[in-house]
Amino acid sequence: MAYTPYPQSYYAFSANPAPQRPPLIGEHETDVCVIGAGYTGLSTALFLLENGFRVTVLEAAQVGFGASGRNGGQIVNSYSRDIDVIERNTNSQAAALMGQMAFEGGRVIRERIERYNIQCDLKNGGVFAAFTSRQMEHLEAQKRLWERYGHTQLELLDRQAIRRVVACDNYVGGLLDHTGGHIHPLNLALGEAAAVESLGGVIHEQSPVVRIERGTTPVAHTSQGRVRAKFLVVAGNAYLGNLLPELAAKSMPCGSQVIATEPLSEELALSLLPQDYCVEDCNYLLDYYRLSADRRLIYGGGVTYGARDPANIEAIIRPKLLNTFPQLQNVKIDFAWTGNFLLTLSRLPQVGRIGDNIYYSQGCSGHGVTYTHLAGKVLAEALRGQAERFDAFAGLPHYPFPGGRLFRIPLTALGAGYYQLRDRLGV
Ligand SMILES: Cc1cc2nc3c(=O)[nH]c(=O)nc-3n(C[C@H](O)[C@H](O)[C@H](O)COP(=O)(O)OP(=O)(O)OC[C@H]3O[C@@H](n4cnc5c(N)ncnc54)[C@H](O)[C@@H]3O)c2cc1C
Repeated sequence: MAYTPYPQSYYAFSANPAPQRPPLIGEHETDVCVIGAGYTGLSTALFLLENGFRVTVLEAAQVGFGASGRNGGQIVNSYSRDIDVIERNTNSQAAALMGQMAFEGGRVIRERIERYNIQCDLKNGGVFAAFTSRQMEHLEAQKRLWERYGHTQLELLDRQAIRRVVACDNYVGGLLDHTGGHIHPLNLALGEAAAVESLGGVIHEQSPVVRIERGTTPVAHTSQGRVRAKFLVVAGNAYLGNLLPELAAKSMPCGSQVIATEPLSEELALSLLPQDYCVEDCNYLLDYYRLSADRRLIYGGGVTYGARDPANIEAIIRPKLLNTFPQLQNVKIDFAWTGNFLLTLSRLPQVGRIGDNIYYSQGCSGHGVTYTHLAGKVLAEALRGQAERFDAFAGLPHYPFPGGRLFRIPLTALGAGYYQLRDRLGV
């Protein structure tokens, strides 16, 4: 059977030692079979195991192979569309619940790191950086909105204040979220996988699920084995393909590209980001960056709709990096990689249940590090019979992308191009 390794990312290069888990062979039976060992699958597995369920996780490649092991590592609160959008798109009770949950994912991550002693270079503090006064007004509104839902650790930064935390002259100001932050994303996933196993959970790698047999006890089939379970949790996100056609119709895989520089001198690194905060800008197609523990600048941006891998990632991202930090003109890029996230038309997560026993959460559309950790908790609650918070997410309306399978990619790119142009013009 084909072996799927990690992509050649900085994260795979600097991953903590981890065992290779054997593929699934033969017939198995468990309470919950989780498909996908990214944050959604691992977080769900952990919450279930902590509550006495037997859990088997089937991963097509390796733990954290997908977006969870390749992302910008930024702990960003709330969702890809903010709570005000949710307030306009659902009933007030569900919106209130989702507002209360908007800052919970970050707390779940920190609890996991603490409880299971996960070594993943956690740093606190995340900055949203504004290029224009219009974006700054949006950040002021975001602060008021988040405060309305109880988040008090936010600080507006004027032009001078943001210059003290990011050595870039392009910003007019920003918003510092003291409960944001950053992590080594793959090491977080690997630590969570070890935690799953420490509680008796079973993980099989190199075990793509090729078919789901629906029924009173659904079965996940791989090429060499099968797992019969009381419940399935589908957590394959942008890498799931067409395993559940009803999900694929309302979501679209998209790629984002990341580069990592060579290690910078301590002096240079601290001159760029003196407080070691992570930063994302406020553009529709945004740039995001931070320092790694060994002082590389990790810089991401760019979106490819339909998730085709660009031939030359450095050629796309390096100009963005130099636009932010021209002082890095001569820096060498050691790693360049791409990863896929799953976009929905509303950019809100797609959560639900098929029949009585197949649960899913996917499509957090860009910001997913915190949401996926929350999702694990919410899915586990639903399996335990407490579905109030799950139902709030499941009630969010989702629609197919315009253009059908043939034209949805060019049409979405066109729509994004419109917003990109508005960002460029500063309107
Ligand atoms: C380049 C990039 C940068 C990002 N940066 C940030 C950031 O800085 N902050 C932020 O909040 N969010 C960021 N995101 C988004 C975030 O990483 C994702 O939302 C999140 O990791 C999704 O986790 P997941 O577990 O749902 O999916 P994934 O991590 O993609 O995991 C899905 C897993 O399921 C497996 N799988 C798929 N199909 C099958 C199958 N049939 N059988 C078995 N296994 C299967 C895959 O191999 C994969 O390991 C970024 C995403 C990308 C791509």
